[in-house]
Amino acid sequence: MQKLRVLSGMQPSGRMHLGNLIGALQNWIKLQEENECFFFVADWHAISTSYENTKDIKENIKQMLIDWLACGLDPAKSTLFIQSHVEEHAILHLLLSMITPVSWLERNPTYKEQQEQIKNRDLSTYGFLGYPVLQSADILIYKADAVPVGVDQLPHLELTREIARRFNYLYANKRSGGAGRSRAWSGGIESSVAWSGILTEPNALLTEIPKLPGTDGRKMSKSYNNAIYISDPVDVFENKVKNLITDPARVRRTDKGNPDVCTAFVFHKIYSNADDVSQIDRDCRMAAIGCTDCKKRLLDKMKTTIKPVWEKRKELSANAKRVFEIAEAGSMKAKEIASNTLKEVKEAMRI
Ligand code: SF4
Repeated sequence: MQKLRVLSGMQPSGRMHLGNLIGALQNWIKLQEENECFFFVADWHAISTSYENTKDIKENIKQMLIDWLACGLDPAKSTLFIQSHVEEHAILHLLLSMITPVSWLERNPTYKEQQEQIKNRDLSTYGFLGYPVLQSADILIYKADAVPVGVDQLPHLELTREIARRFNYLYANKRSGGAGRSRAWSGGIESSVAWSGILTEPNALLTEIPKLPGTDGRKMSKSYNNAIYISDPVDVFENKVKNLITDPARVRRTDKGNPDVCTAFVFHKIYSNADDVSQIDRDCRMAAIGCTDCKKRLLDKMKTTIKPVWEKRKELSANAKRVFEIAEAGSMKAKEIASNTLKEVKEAMRI
């Protein structure tokens, strides 16, 4: 069976934390084993919400690429590239924006939500309203079969499918057969549309993304200042794990605890094996283990898992040139596919 072409991107908005690693990156690392994967640093998307502050973008791109490679994305298996190095994304974005009704963008739930919630940034720009069209161009230019998404991102993907349908209806359906890709779908979802156009409607690769809490128990996030970063120095990393919030009702060592309300226990469930997790669950409830010991055990497990990442990170940080060479080679490969699609798009539009 032909491999599925999978595409996904991440905004370079700062150093990656363990929440990013557990949430998205590990899924990508798995996907690259069986699929033809394209993963890109979405630097233009980062500008859509932070246009007034671009001074750190280059450094953020570098750090993100180092994190990706250190964690296990393999350029021999995946095409890793930088969005702004494949300018075809921008041209397709422009062309698709001509056919996308504004009402489709205004009903985007993320648009409304972020407008209401993010008060410290100016989101009343054309770029922010239109970012789902750029996202559609990112996907459609590679004729991706599948995009790994969480449930909350499904409306975006549906918009991409609608834009592809609209394009094909306007310009491509009259062509016999079409020039696009047609693949067997091994993910259990069959495309509901008999496709014969130029742009491929991507399917959702629904991913249950585990949410990792930050050191204070809230969702791990750079903006909450509670994140444990992959690139944290060892002593900082150790301190953060030792200070993870535990069951607040367990004041004395002799108090019985409740692991269900403990942040450290969430980490145990990720980093310790099932037997250890059950043992800690029992011991905590019977006050047979203290929180200091419990977190020490957790720290040992976490360090064992992350040590190879730290080592690879150190090696890559000392050779940033090599990191950018990998991204450049990926960008060239991506550009080849993107320019072919763009050629077809222009031909279909007779421009
Ligand atoms: S013993 Fe472990 S699981 Fe129980 S409250 Fe303390 S840190 Fe959390």
